[in-house]
Amino acid sequence: MENKLGISGLVFNEPFLWEKSKHGRCGISIPEQDVEQCLLPSDLTDGAPELPQLTEVDVVRHFTRLSQWNFGVDSGMYPLGSCTMKYNPKTNEVQASLPGLAYSHPLADEDVSQGTLKIMYDLEKYLCEITGMDAVTLQPAAGAHGELAGMLVIHAFHAQKGKQRSKIIIPDTAHGTNPASATLCGYKSINIKSNENGILAPETVAKVMDEDTAGIMLTNPNTLGLFEENIKAISDIVHSKGGLVYGDGANMNAIMGIVKPGHIGIDVLHLNLHKTFATPHGGGGPGAGPVAVIKELELFLPCPKIKKKDNNTYSLIDNSPNSIGRMITFYGHFNVMVKAYSYILTMGAKGLKKVSQLAVLNANYIKESLKHIFYLPYDIPCMHECVFTDKNQEKYNITTLDMAKRLMDYGFHPPTIYFPLVVHGALMIEPTETESKETIDEFIKALKEIAGEAQNNPEILYSAPHISKVSRLDEVTAARKPCLRG
Ligand SMILES: *Cc1c(COP(=O)(O)O)cnc(C)c1O
Repeated sequence: MENKLGISGLVFNEPFLWEKSKHGRCGISIPEQDVEQCLLPSDLTDGAPELPQLTEVDVVRHFTRLSQWNFGVDSGMYPLGSCTMKYNPKTNEVQASLPGLAYSHPLADEDVSQGTLKIMYDLEKYLCEITGMDAVTLQPAAGAHGELAGMLVIHAFHAQKGKQRSKIIIPDTAHGTNPASATLCGYKSINIKSNENGILAPETVAKVMDEDTAGIMLTNPNTLGLFEENIKAISDIVHSKGGLVYGDGANMNAIMGIVKPGHIGIDVLHLNLHKTFATPHGGGGPGAGPVAVIKELELFLPCPKIKKKDNNTYSLIDNSPNSIGRMITFYGHFNVMVKAYSYILTMGAKGLKKVSQLAVLNANYIKESLKHIFYLPYDIPCMHECVFTDKNQEKYNITTLDMAKRLMDYGFHPPTIYFPLVVHGALMIEPTETESKETIDEFIKALKEIAGEAQNNPEILYSAPHISKVSRLDEVTAARKPCLRG
């Protein structure tokens, strides 16, 4: 097979492991047999899988090479809006790998699990403190799973009041998972529009909120990266009709130590530990979407719940009559919890506040540096991310997709594109707090150069990316006829 050298020095057209196999090659050495031979029944030895025959170094090089074709936060800036792809300090991974934690067994007795239970209990308390809420469940496995748990809590609340409601209000700036979670709970989504400043007006909510509406589900900061400034007035309207306010807190990275959702009228909130609290996000690894609630809703939280007893020991309580039940096997993704616990302790209150301040500063710096080049639909201070569009490049026949693909040639992961849906051709940039000014300046410079290319050399954008393992994909065919092997 012909090999070409890519710009980054990687060998392209790598054969599959099976194609590299050479009969008789082996990557292990087995000691000489020193026990009596025993013949196994043939149904146990027949039909062994045909594994490739390779040496250890062949295998190591193969997988190392594949990993280098990937792009991750450890390789460069990854400004994927709404995803908080920040750098996750490795020390948190070290704590999560400590044998006493990594090998703790979910079926071990309570008396030998006191340490793990204490970590979970303390983490719940820290998250209460950060969010200004009264109780937390750590069970949900992801943000959307947390939304489902939170909506089940709201459902249980109305059921207990004696009358279930049929609708839920969801603004156009909410995350796409919100209506899906509400629908799973049987609620009909009532979509409302944000105002000319990209946020919700209390009057818009007042018009649709009634006594058949379970509440509102909003994302704050919203998916335009803007803070819902009218949140208190909105929550007053919803509460006055007996509804509850669900806050999607996946964007907590913008407001830690600055705003406590529990203090501005939010009743139920989920967090994404795999965005804000030190677990890498994406790649299909485990995450966690804890749900925080106000005191009045604590009784509905999933079981088992962790209880601290008077003698400072911890136990799991399974018999809670109003609980929505279990959301996951055992107690959730414990190693993700350990990373969050370790992160919160290493950062401290001041450190977490600084995280949010820097995340917001960096996004505003990018917004101000690029707003004369790319169209900025909402020219107001943003939170942790800013949203441009391709309107200024339309006259050159260049789209957001072309510019995002070209960014890869400059060594950056593309930002989120075509989301949020409220703006046409969105380019949503979330730099996070962990990028240095130098890196952010490089990123700004790259986007400025790309805007110049759009005008003077659009061809180079149409065919981008040029240096990646695979070039521009036919996205329709890729979705309809996925080729998962190579
Ligand atoms: C990422 C995100 C979610 C969904 O979280 P998952 O863990 O991917 O399920 C929900 N809401 C917002 C605002 C998000 O950014």
